[in-house]
Amino acid sequence: MPYRARSEPVVLKILRILNKRIKLSGDEQRYYLNQEKGFEGEVQFDLLTVKLQRDCHILNDLQLESNKSSFQLDSSLIFQETYSIFEVKNFEGEYVYDSEYFKTPSGKDIQNPLDQLKRSKLLLSQLLQSLGSKLTVEAYVIFINPHFTLYKTPADLPFILPTQLNSFMKKLDQKPSRLNQSHKDLADKLISLHQPVPPKIQLPNYRYETVKKGMSCCKCDSFSVTIFGKKLICGKCGREEFVTVAVMRNVEEFKLLFPDRKITTNVIHEWCDLVDSKKRIRRILGKNLKICGVHQWTYYE
Ligand SMILES: [Zn+2]
Repeated sequence: MPYRARSEPVVLKILRILNKRIKLSGDEQRYYLNQEKGFEGEVQFDLLTVKLQRDCHILNDLQLESNKSSFQLDSSLIFQETYSIFEVKNFEGEYVYDSEYFKTPSGKDIQNPLDQLKRSKLLLSQLLQSLGSKLTVEAYVIFINPHFTLYKTPADLPFILPTQLNSFMKKLDQKPSRLNQSHKDLADKLISLHQPVPPKIQLPNYRYETVKKGMSCCKCDSFSVTIFGKKLICGKCGREEFVTVAVMRNVEEFKLLFPDRKITTNVIHEWCDLVDSKKRIRRILGKNLKICGVHQWTYYE
């Protein structure tokens, strides 16, 4: 079991909501899909690390800071003598190696992740040193997608191509390792230093006024939903969901998009744009959230 499990990044959650509620530009759409794909790749790699039999702590998705510089570790493993970090890439297709870019005949080049890896390795080494840890940092780029090929890759790079992944994981699992309290303390310390929201998040511009209101289906994201009694029913895929659950799901979306706005009956009534009675909204909010304030100043947390 991972010592720190991966959860869906906030940025990805927001992008998913924006994707159905505003019109993303071509670039924004690509950025969103890349985030989605990147996360999928990380989850794939988690399925491999979790199978390791060796004594090691698995720390997924850490956002840290060292020397006032932020860096992110997709996946890391604490062994007895080493701290292994993995930059996971879910690239797909055939590329030719180049020190700056991986090149493709179609011109859709992608940046060589080596510099990013070196930077993370250096910053982490400094951070570990400042925490009094003597572990040696090992850093790898994992190309997780079986449909990825990188021609002319120099052999001495810390790149693990899809065809090498199995034997690499086997080798990792043969590392002699016995963990003690100091390893656990280090893991706890790093988790306490994790920053839940990355400092520079790239998001499309949006305003409350321009974001589509209404409730969407929990399965297919369609806004063609209707309320029948206690159920919300999707006209596109037929999925049924309790209105209470659907409203709270949409409240969560509102909170993610507008974290500074207060949740009130009026606000959510307008946001959901489907539930006729404000009374019903008030009852749902009151049941599921903490009521603050009184009368017309009531809001929910
Ligand atoms: Zn649906």
